[in-house]
Amino acid sequence: MAIVIENDEIKNIKNSNSIVEEYSIPNDGGVHGGVAYHDLQGKAVVPGLVDAHTHLLWSGDRSPEVRQRREGLSYAEIAASGGGIQSTVSATRAASDEHLFRDGYVRLREALRTGTTYLEAKSGYGLTVKDELRLLEIAHRLDQMTELPSLHPTWMGAHDVPKGQTKEAYMHELLSKQLPAVAEQGIARSADVFCEPGWFDLDETHDLLRDSKNAGLGLRMHVDEFANGGGGELAASLRVETADHAYHTPMNARKAMAANDVMTGFLPGTPYAMGDGWPDMNSMVEEGIPYSLATDFNPNCQTLSLPFMMSLMVQRCGVHPLEALRATTVNAAKSTPHVSGRPHGCIVEGGVANLNIVDGPNWEAVTLRPTGTPFCATILEGRFISH
Ligand SMILES: [Zn+2]
Repeated sequence: MAIVIENDEIKNIKNSNSIVEEYSIPNDGGVHGGVAYHDLQGKAVVPGLVDAHTHLLWSGDRSPEVRQRREGLSYAEIAASGGGIQSTVSATRAASDEHLFRDGYVRLREALRTGTTYLEAKSGYGLTVKDELRLLEIAHRLDQMTELPSLHPTWMGAHDVPKGQTKEAYMHELLSKQLPAVAEQGIARSADVFCEPGWFDLDETHDLLRDSKNAGLGLRMHVDEFANGGGGELAASLRVETADHAYHTPMNARKAMAANDVMTGFLPGTPYAMGDGWPDMNSMVEEGIPYSLATDFNPNCQTLSLPFMMSLMVQRCGVHPLEALRATTVNAAKSTPHVSGRPHGCIVEGGVANLNIVDGPNWEAVTLRPTGTPFCATILEGRFISH
């Protein structure tokens, strides 16, 4: 088969011989008459991967927490000793725009090398109007870089309550100051809330997402990471785009989510990094509930490799490799649509020309190089990039 790409769009998918004839392609390949010809010599091609959940932009270093957890310190004890999310918030606020941009640039290069062509990027380590807007602005600048994956920026002011502020006061700030400022800025495409017992409860999450929807934003949620807090049911009733983590979401809530077109987003990097149990993936398959897989890149889980996530699911959780590929392409694209409105995460005529060329003849290889890249090249919005 051959794929014809014009600018950033898949124009035609046809038998190779008829394409060679139609475009009068000579045997030696190369560029002829403005057409670049790549003979992939039988290598497999899969869609560009879509990372539907990342905390891309932050600064600081929480690596001592790896040791502290092994030494038995709880999350609360680590936070009391100056670690935890508040330390990331302090370091992020203190970092310059250029520092955050540079880190984001390097991270996105790494994501591209492992096949990610589109990536959701949350704010949420600023937690003030000024700093949340700044993170979204830096995401926007990164999105302008044509050599990097395109971004879906998400406002996540409701990631945590900043130190020194009551939840009530911060809720007021989110609803009356941050959200209007984010809407006015016009960069964020979605809003996300950390809906979990002890963080933002169901009523608070409901209010934040209701107002976000009214402000024209898509809706996303973090639900049931530590306990079943009813986030799955709320996600279903609000018909959000995706409800992620979902480890403790009961099956009836997962079914309700699926019935209301809410994607379940699994983030296998989190249990991998934190030493928690794996989600029960067989029950999702048995019930026919679609799900996506994303990296949840954050200070505790510093990988942007979707092939690693697929490998964890296939080699540790009994997931079929085609299911894993579906979860990082078509399903992820459903909750994270391309800004152009055209299909991505799939190989179709009229779709965005985002493709990965596997370094071998079989697509199943995508799960077999968790520490490197299974791809020898990526086509990013029509541009051929060798790895
Ligand atoms: Zn997250």
